[in-house]
Amino acid sequence: MTENREVFPGDEIAVEEEYLAADGTFVCNGKIYASQIGRLVLDDDECIARVISPNPPNMLKEGDTVYAVVNDTRKTMVTATALCREGTDRAIASSTDATLHVSKISPNYTSSTSEEMRKGDLIRARVIGTKPSLQLTTKDAHLGVVRAQCGLCKTELVRKGENLFCPKCRRSQPRKLADDYGDIRL
Ligand SMILES: [Zn+2]
Repeated sequence: MTENREVFPGDEIAVEEEYLAADGTFVCNGKIYASQIGRLVLDDDECIARVISPNPPNMLKEGDTVYAVVNDTRKTMVTATALCREGTDRAIASSTDATLHVSKISPNYTSSTSEEMRKGDLIRARVIGTKPSLQLTTKDAHLGVVRAQCGLCKTELVRKGENLFCPKCRRSQPRKLADDYGDIRL
């Protein structure tokens, strides 16, 4: 018999006479208990009892690269919502509310956050802090805006030199661009 129920730390799951205590378990007075949350597996062929932990939660940490969408540009900071961590499509388990201080947007001096980013822009950023909320930077060449639409007509903006350009409005718009702007699809 193989059980597949969820167990919690301290749950009695088997007796030592019948099973060998393996990963995720501990023994006390001849009984086997779960030492972690997980799925109980009683292997009757090998007579092994183990508890298999589900995937650890996808918590963002310092140094992670994330994709985020810009919510607002304020005087000294940009607010954004982290969508995913680069390299994984799993949902982020920690808070996704992020801020980007004006001094962390570009290696150059930034006089106005709205000269670098606009609401709705998709950015690639690096996590530089997680408490009390997510703090991001886009200072490196590979970080910054990776996709953006025109604020007036919603046309996808194209790169023109160091700026973005709306082919419909024939208008140039400044941004802190990632070096591969326009090349990525999420
Ligand atoms: Zn336009």
